[in-house]
Amino acid sequence: MLKQTLDGKAIAGRITDALRLEVERLKAKHGRGPSLLTVQVGMQSASDLYVRSQMKAAEKVGITYHLERLPETITQAELIRKIQEWNHDPHYTGITIQLPLPKSIDARELSAAVDPKKDVEGVHPQHIGQAMFGWSRIGTCTSLAIMELIKATGASLYGKEAVIVGNSELIGKPVSLMLLDNFCTTTICHLGTADRGRLREHVQRAEILVVAVGKPHLIKGSWIRPGAIVIDVGTSYVDGHLTGDVEFEEARKVADYITPVPGGVGPVVVATLMRNTVETFKLQAGA
Ligand code: NAP
Repeated sequence: MLKQTLDGKAIAGRITDALRLEVERLKAKHGRGPSLLTVQVGMQSASDLYVRSQMKAAEKVGITYHLERLPETITQAELIRKIQEWNHDPHYTGITIQLPLPKSIDARELSAAVDPKKDVEGVHPQHIGQAMFGWSRIGTCTSLAIMELIKATGASLYGKEAVIVGNSELIGKPVSLMLLDNFCTTTICHLGTADRGRLREHVQRAEILVVAVGKPHLIKGSWIRPGAIVIDVGTSYVDGHLTGDVEFEEARKVADYITPVPGGVGPVVVATLMRNTVETFKLQAGA
């Protein structure tokens, strides 16, 4: 079997090329197109890279892009009031609130305040609940990106051993449901797994391994099952370099497919955000 590094930029490019044509069609039909409002609150440097990538992708796809920067001192109540205004503002068909948020802000309450028809991150409780039924048109961007990368391998998922390391609401939990819906036998590992020293034994079983923790090189190359598909979501800076959760050089010798960091998951997340923005526009237009 040919060993391959999954090229996130190429996969993202295919998604955004298709979206550009769809946005042209939507604009011709409705006389207007999707528009995305990105909100940064305080600590902007942590999301600046993601925001710049969003701007570029939106321009390519034909989505109107707005950026709102708010001070770290804004209160929860003021932020909710603003979200309610944006919910009713026809200039914005999609709203995304960037993480991280200041400690005084409750992200879950904000997610619930965004009109689900404008929730391009797929984090409104309605979308999270619909995901349980396999109904949602708007999944969380990172979990959708992970599924795009896995599907790009062309491998059958049916009956495969899938192990997800990381249990967050935005990544680990939704992607485990998606893999389950594709008939994978799914295991989720978290801090409790690691604290009991059981991470290695679960990882060694994985035919599909998704790691989303944020601890550089947590997963050793020697743990990877030969022939595995490895999706490394983690991003941390080590000596100024963006670094994943998996020992890439060792892991790539055994895995059939692996995502690099950077250039793997990240670009596809931006593309799935654009796709969700187009989907929310279609939801509003009844398309
Ligand atoms: P998060 O909310 O902090 O979740 C991290 C998860 O890892 C938690 O479920 C935690 O378990 C688990 N964990 C912590 N230490 C562990 C260990 N030693 N062994 C096993 N599991 C452990 O983070 P997140 O938002 O999901 O993000 C995860 C990583 O993905 C971060 O590095 C983030 O920067 C990156 N990310 C990248 C992209 C991209 O575009 N590439 C997009 C989004 C996020 P408990 O639940 O038990 O605490």
